[in-house]
Amino acid sequence: MYEHCPHCNFRYEIEPGYFWGAMFVSYALSAGIALVMGFVLFYGFGDPEGWVYVIVIAPLLVLLTPINFRISRVLWLHFVSGVRYNPNL
Ligand SMILES: [Zn+2]
Repeated sequence: MYEHCPHCNFRYEIEPGYFWGAMFVSYALSAGIALVMGFVLFYGFGDPEGWVYVIVIAPLLVLLTPINFRISRVLWLHFVSGVRYNPNL
């Protein structure tokens, strides 16, 4: 992640440890993904055994970690710090 915005020079990490809050956003996203996959397995595949849930959901969450990490920071910036996207800057 850039330290400053390449267009408007906005400093992303407003204060030290600013992105700790993004950790909670990341947790919520992961829980949501796990919940949706649990419903898909339950209703779509007729409630398989417990280990199937683990084999499907755990690797999926690990694979999505890089995306989840970035999306969480972007969501944190937009909804907590009040940063608004302005493509004209
Ligand atoms: Zn900018």
